[in-house]
Amino acid sequence: MIELTTSYLEEAIEDSRPFAASGNVNMNLPNFDETMKDRLGVSVITTDLECYSAGEHRQFVPMQSTSKVIGLMLALQDFGKERVFNAVGMEPMGDFFNSISQLESYDTTKPFNPMINAGAIAVSAMIKGQSPENRFNRYLEFLREITDNEKLDMSEDVYEAERANGSRNRALAYFMHSTGTLVTDVEEALDLYYRMNSVMMCCDDFARVGLFLARGGRSPRSNERLIPSNHLRTVKAIMMTSGMYNSSGHYAVEAGFPCKSGVSGSIIGAIPGRMGIGVVGPAIDEKGNSTAGGALIKKLAQDLGLNMFGEN
Ligand code: GLN
Repeated sequence: MIELTTSYLEEAIEDSRPFAASGNVNMNLPNFDETMKDRLGVSVITTDLECYSAGEHRQFVPMQSTSKVIGLMLALQDFGKERVFNAVGMEPMGDFFNSISQLESYDTTKPFNPMINAGAIAVSAMIKGQSPENRFNRYLEFLREITDNEKLDMSEDVYEAERANGSRNRALAYFMHSTGTLVTDVEEALDLYYRMNSVMMCCDDFARVGLFLARGGRSPRSNERLIPSNHLRTVKAIMMTSGMYNSSGHYAVEAGFPCKSGVSGSIIGAIPGRMGIGVVGPAIDEKGNSTAGGALIKKLAQDLGLNMFGEN
């Protein structure tokens, strides 16, 4: 096993960077272009609060689907496990993350799980608040607290892009409304989903979310437990089985810890009792996962002995 040091992470970045060549940058996102393709950064924060970073770890990108982890935590907090999983399933899905056909084939027309778009839109509708602004503010305040970063905020440009490119998500939401899966105001649920996707973060912030999950849901500010351990367990199990979409089985085998990706090339990793990992590598594969970031996650798992199912 290799010791976790900054120089080890620097080497791991350079070993993984060439995998960016097989991916593509999501050009629908503002400021995402070919110059982003080779970027790769990582931050690791251990439960002893030691921080290690390498590569372009200060590259800010929109959360995109990594926001689904936060949404799920809040919905579980607000409605409890039974009611959340009445609205959305907990099974992995073999189709792409924005698939619509699965909504008609599954027994109760529930989306398969909260990590795919349909599931996350249904979950967004379960975040409580007196008004749409208040719901998003709850999300943002929670995120600021668990990352201990008061500066986190939404990018208006990304939000506008999400709305402009939102036909598929709108279709998913209206379809769910037609079947009674989504019973609240559809446009409000979508708007919150777009905003949640648009918060800008860097590797350090993604790693802090991973650390929060790895460290019993404790606030880094007060050390108070913000999310009960049974909800954290649920979130980590769903990340493990569905967090990397239809590559989740592959990541369960090759990394062996809960991860969640976003099409900005971001990945959150949570190694219970040990560390949180944040990765940004904007070149993604056709399933929506960072190619270089994924290679890096698997390398860290192997070199640092992070696979919870055992060593190689
Ligand atoms: N904004 C993207 C969408 O809604 C997020 C998807 C993702 O990161 N996989 O399709």
